[in-house]
Amino acid sequence: MAEFTLEPSDDQKQVRDWLHGFAADVVRPAAAEWDEREETPWPVIQEAAKLGIYSLDFYAQQYFDPSGLGIPIAMEELFWGDAGIALSIVGTGLAAVGVLANGTDEQIGTWIPQMYGDADDVKLAAFCSSEPDAGSDVAAMRTRAVYDEAKDEWVLNGTKTWATNGGIANVHVVVASVDPELGSKGHASFIVPPGTKGLSQGQKFKKHGIRASHTAEVVLDGVRVPGACLLGGKDKLDARLARAREKAAAGGMGVPPLERSREWGRVKNAAMATFEASRPAVGAMAVGTARAAYEVALDYAKTRSQFGRPIIDNQGIAFQLADMRTRIDAARLLVWRASWMATTGKKFESAEGSMSKLFASETAKQVTAQAVQILGGNGFTREYPVERMHRDAAIYTIFEGTSEIQRLVIARTLAGMPIR
Ligand SMILES: Cc1cc2nc3c(=O)[nH]c(=O)nc-3n(C[C@H](O)[C@H](O)[C@H](O)COP(=O)(O)OP(=O)(O)OC[C@H]3O[C@@H](n4cnc5c(N)ncnc54)[C@H](O)[C@@H]3O)c2cc1C
Repeated sequence: MAEFTLEPSDDQKQVRDWLHGFAADVVRPAAAEWDEREETPWPVIQEAAKLGIYSLDFYAQQYFDPSGLGIPIAMEELFWGDAGIALSIVGTGLAAVGVLANGTDEQIGTWIPQMYGDADDVKLAAFCSSEPDAGSDVAAMRTRAVYDEAKDEWVLNGTKTWATNGGIANVHVVVASVDPELGSKGHASFIVPPGTKGLSQGQKFKKHGIRASHTAEVVLDGVRVPGACLLGGKDKLDARLARAREKAAAGGMGVPPLERSREWGRVKNAAMATFEASRPAVGAMAVGTARAAYEVALDYAKTRSQFGRPIIDNQGIAFQLADMRTRIDAARLLVWRASWMATTGKKFESAEGSMSKLFASETAKQVTAQAVQILGGNGFTREYPVERMHRDAAIYTIFEGTSEIQRLVIARTLAGMPIR
């Protein structure tokens, strides 16, 4: 097991500096244009692919960094460049992680390369879980997957929403209910291969922020996928469903309420652990946006003069910058702790993953708002990047679980209550 250290290794520093160069030279200069166009920045993704930043190899290297700091360092630098473009670059990773976490070796080897394509023919992937009536309440999912035994095919029907890269992806990973009675324990994930009939893009959303990232509905109308597209395979699913049914039956057979709740808490926590592990990555994205806005505000405060002196000479401005920097560093530490814990197999006893996402995302919202204020009228215009960063930061308290849901997860974990 790797030793914990707050000092990134030489390799990590090298990757960080390399990514920072890409973020500063390629991403940041393109940010305003793609924000205005509200389109996927294909040329930037292609450039990232040429450099090896948009690739399975790069993502896997960071993901398997034994210290856990590979992903947070990479996310912070890319999102420092621009959140919308960075999400277009890392969005495929969300779907890839879905396959890595649940797929067989064969599925991982078959589908993940098709999610990325190659530098000459770049592809994207989408992870489709949310639905119009099932956002925070994932268990309310209505998309159904029914097994057609005669053909060894799964038939998917339903409407997904808010899918990053939805409809423009080569490979879609779709979460569907195979047993609605079991709530989220009855869910399974499926690969929908490129060109599958019945999958179409619904409306594409016009958004407040991260506008360079494509977000759309995905409609599944009698989509048929081979049995081999069930992630993890049917035997594993059947065994998991049998266990869940057994637990549900035991819960209804006179187990005292507190015991029952603890038992379910434990079961649910196993599923929540997957989400918990991905949340620090979103926290790192938020740290990147917050740091970017803070740096612009700091430079501005040093150079903008009013009343015959730089505005940073006023304690009212300097203290804001002190608070901004303190919060950003605290957020990064929470993110690094959670990532280190997840990678080194330490159990999240107090929902540390949710803590990191909650604090970092709220920090990004607060810091970017302060940056707008410090830039005065200029902060309110699109001539300066803090206006865009402020709009972008609003996403972090919404996706991958809202701040309210993070608080709910933390509170229920502390109380030993079921997370639902
Ligand atoms: C730009 C963008 C990209 C996204 N990308 C993806 C993606 O790639 N794949 C995907 O599957 N999903 C994606 N999402 C969906 C995202 O995860 C959901 O929007 C999020 O989970 C919230 O769900 P909701 O929008 O339905 O809000 P709701 O669940 O309707 O929540 C509305 C409000 O009620 C609050 N609330 C709900 N329940 C409770 C409660 N029990 N206690 C207290 N407050 C509560 C929420 O915190 C929120 O403030 C994306 C969303 C956006 C906006």
